[in-house]
Amino acid sequence: MNKNELETDCQGPRNVIILQRTTVILVVSAVVLLFVAMALAFYFIPLRSKSTECGELSPATTMQPQDDRKPLAPIPSNHSNISLDAMLPTYDPFLGRLPESLVPEHYDIWIKVYMDEEEYDRAFTYTGRVSIVLRCDEETSIIKIHAWWLKVDFDSVVVRHRGNSDEVALQGVKFDETYQFLIIDTEEPLEPTEKYVIEMSYDGELTEYNLCGFYPSSHKYGKEARWVALTSFQPDCARKAFPCLDEPQLKATFNISITHRPTRKALSNMPEIRSTTTEDGSWNTTYFDITVPMSTYHISFALLDFPSLERETSTGIQFRVWAEPTRIHAAEYALEIGVQMLTYFENSFQIKHPIPKMDMIAAPTFISGGLENWALIVYRDDYMLYDPNQDSTDHMFDVATIVAHELAHMWFGNLVTLKWWNDLWLNEGFASFLEYPAVDFVHPEWKMENQLLLTDVMFSMREDESYDVIPKPIVREVGGWSGELWDMFDSRIYQKGASIIRSLRAFLDEQVIERGLKKYLRAHLYDNVVTDDLWHALTEADKKHGGTDVKKMMDCWLLQAGLPLVTVTRIDETTLKVEQSQFIKDRDGLWEKDFPKDQKWNIPLTYTHSGITDFNRPFRAWLLAEDEYITIEIDDLTEKDWVIFNVNQTGYFHVNYDTDNWNKLAKQLKDDFEVIPTQTRAALLNDAFVIAESGELDLVVGLQLTEYMYEETEFIVWETVEHYLPFIRTVLLRTDEFELFQNYWRNQITPLYESLGWNFTGSHMLDYKRRLKAIKNACSWGNKNCIEMATAVYRQWMSDQFSDSVPQDNSLMESLSCAVIRQGGLEEWMFAYENSDEMDNPEKLELFGLIAESAMSCSQNAWLLQGYLEMYDEMEKLFVASYYMREKSALGFSVAWKFMIERFDELFEKYGNSLYFHIWLFGPFLNSESDLKQLLDFGSRSTNMSDGAVTQFYRAVGRVKENIAWMDKNMASVREWLARVAPETRHQDAGPEYVDFDRLNGDSAKSGTKEKRRHGRSIYDSSNGHHERRFHRRQKV
Ligand SMILES: [Zn+2]
Repeated sequence: MNKNELETDCQGPRNVIILQRTTVILVVSAVVLLFVAMALAFYFIPLRSKSTECGELSPATTMQPQDDRKPLAPIPSNHSNISLDAMLPTYDPFLGRLPESLVPEHYDIWIKVYMDEEEYDRAFTYTGRVSIVLRCDEETSIIKIHAWWLKVDFDSVVVRHRGNSDEVALQGVKFDETYQFLIIDTEEPLEPTEKYVIEMSYDGELTEYNLCGFYPSSHKYGKEARWVALTSFQPDCARKAFPCLDEPQLKATFNISITHRPTRKALSNMPEIRSTTTEDGSWNTTYFDITVPMSTYHISFALLDFPSLERETSTGIQFRVWAEPTRIHAAEYALEIGVQMLTYFENSFQIKHPIPKMDMIAAPTFISGGLENWALIVYRDDYMLYDPNQDSTDHMFDVATIVAHELAHMWFGNLVTLKWWNDLWLNEGFASFLEYPAVDFVHPEWKMENQLLLTDVMFSMREDESYDVIPKPIVREVGGWSGELWDMFDSRIYQKGASIIRSLRAFLDEQVIERGLKKYLRAHLYDNVVTDDLWHALTEADKKHGGTDVKKMMDCWLLQAGLPLVTVTRIDETTLKVEQSQFIKDRDGLWEKDFPKDQKWNIPLTYTHSGITDFNRPFRAWLLAEDEYITIEIDDLTEKDWVIFNVNQTGYFHVNYDTDNWNKLAKQLKDDFEVIPTQTRAALLNDAFVIAESGELDLVVGLQLTEYMYEETEFIVWETVEHYLPFIRTVLLRTDEFELFQNYWRNQITPLYESLGWNFTGSHMLDYKRRLKAIKNACSWGNKNCIEMATAVYRQWMSDQFSDSVPQDNSLMESLSCAVIRQGGLEEWMFAYENSDEMDNPEKLELFGLIAESAMSCSQNAWLLQGYLEMYDEMEKLFVASYYMREKSALGFSVAWKFMIERFDELFEKYGNSLYFHIWLFGPFLNSESDLKQLLDFGSRSTNMSDGAVTQFYRAVGRVKENIAWMDKNMASVREWLARVAPETRHQDAGPEYVDFDRLNGDSAKSGTKEKRRHGRSIYDSSNGHHERRFHRRQKV
């Protein structure tokens, strides 16, 4: 069944939508009419509308959906529109933008760079000359161009007619520092249709400040520090390297030449066409080919003394990777996959990469993970380099995804570019989405579709429903001021953008998306776009398929923040009631008052049931913003059947069911979990737990769904559940049930642990992650064999920190150390203690200190924990210790809480008012009446709180009250459930005997050196998953 067939299945009398799969023919003619109507409707939708069709319920449609509405018809336009203006900034969105009177067509840029000691007085500076050809579109006597941190020689500024070279008389030149404008006033106005050339000389400084513009970066060569120079221009830093009209829609061609010392190689976006050397051989000038039309932020140049590796793609593109001499071998992986991915994208889009070369640089210092300078991509070195001898296998994932991301930008971002930064998602959403198919092309064994759900969809939904930060729409107005531009680059733009595209792909169909995207790219080559251009292309592509008006479908997802909860309730055996509400996982209402709470979305629903378990071709229906609810009739449904909505979580929303349906789903999972595909299993667990966390569902419903998990082997399912375990741990940690809960999870993880063991040899990335997860969980939940193995590793570590028998993965070592110290004694704890300050000592191991600090808090010895808190005389350290202790165990919590409360006055003398904020952080763990009393007593005797601390105190009290209410609602059923499931012991605590750390440690682990761990992968996440900290290599200066 394809989508057209599905749609024609749908018709219904009055306010009931009946889905009868046998009535296709009857509605074909209606559907044809609908297609025509949709095609006509599209052309009457104004582009760039700020308002969305999603809004408050219209009185006319609230109570009774329109009788004649067909499911999947164009979204009716007769309901009330809600303007999103209230959610947009109140400032003039065009403040700080360049006027539209002058448009750049071409730049000639020459710079001479001084970087070496022999030119000490000028070292780390450059001098430049720029000439810009401008087309005058509107008469003006004010020329504004961007320049920042540059010493422009005002006397050198010349404006000429391009045709006859006559000079235009100038009144004056000045800077506007607020918006970083160089303003040139002319005596006579510049005339429309004429072209002008502006020339000027300037000096600049190579500075590491903000790593923005043209900046120096050092690397070590033996004991010697050497310097290279790089650029980072996105979004507004090109103006720090040369005067320019620094807005993305002002594309031009560029002719770049660089004079530099011969000891370094000059690179830029285009291939070198020639170079000259001064007679004395002291200076080279490298000339680059004229660029294709591009935005200023895609311009890049570099001066390197790095070696390179080189290959040619099958379509004849020269592909080079550059890294510092000691690490160039680790660039081989990026080169290998980069060559394949570049060709993959060329084939996918049917557009050849327009520049005949591609360079990728591993920079010792860089502001972000990578930046898509056209054909001269720069990465922070750790993100581009993968050394199989030193890095853990899962680091390949980071390198592969970022290389795919930056290469995807060559089409989505560079060839076709956003018109303004409010549409940043057009660049970043696509590049993020395209990471997955491109990596899948080179590593099909990594199951990248599953990773997309996990890494982007679930991640961004969590951000969108969180109360920590006020959610923002991904398309929102932004002015020209630097701070606003940088503020756009939040993770929502990337991950939610990718999730929305995934959702579109599922709804419109893979071929429609492919066709639409090709159309979109071809229609806007070397041009700039707004979101509506994409909707237009996709609507056109879907005309002969589904006839969807994509803009109407998608506006509410982009112009509104947050996401919906769809609730499905069985009315009778064959009828379902489906309604939506805004989902807010907000248990203390921190931001509710500042954010619309009754938003609605146009939701494309997919669903299936146990009678027809075809998850590839689910049924479809619309749940529109204007619907109070819809009803869905499924003729085949019987009393024993379950239903599942939002198959594979392709829609960006959660689904809740009535308890009976949840129970049926839990039973299905226990009877035969493979009936439900992996992504849908993960989605069901994700929905159940997050809705339970919000208080809208009993926790036990989610817990029941996990009863089958002793059979579960898929990484994304375990990862999904593991995300919620800290919350449940926090709830149960100080109850009698915690031990049962621990037993339960030990039972569930043991089969996976036993089947995977500790043998990392031959693991590919996904297997590696799975194995790590199984070991960490087994040790954390107290699997006896795992703890014995961990103890052996820890003892080996105690005798030789660089032993080949010690895994190089820091997150694993943190889990193992915690498990050992939890069981162990003074000796193990003292070893961690003696090493806990090493993070501050660059000569030692920066990460071991963090592992040790976390592991020390796992001790079950009260006086050790007490001593741990007492030994610090810095608030930061005390905070870290108490943070870990309150999470690791009930004993740790009690010791830390008692310490902070009883010693408060003494600590307050030292640390002042900010100490209060550390106290309030215990709030989420307090969940009994006696906890509340202690907190209130503490508050009432604290008379020296600042206003901010008082506010936070009341929030903490509110949180504890909600925790108590949550416990009252959930604990009885959780207790009953644990009594039923936990005592069973399905598996003995046996474990694998064979251990091989070679793969875990890299192939050359046997030659282990101290360098090995220093360069080891530096991802570190706490065993309970409550936070993740990512450490980068110490930046060199
Ligand atoms: Zn990007």
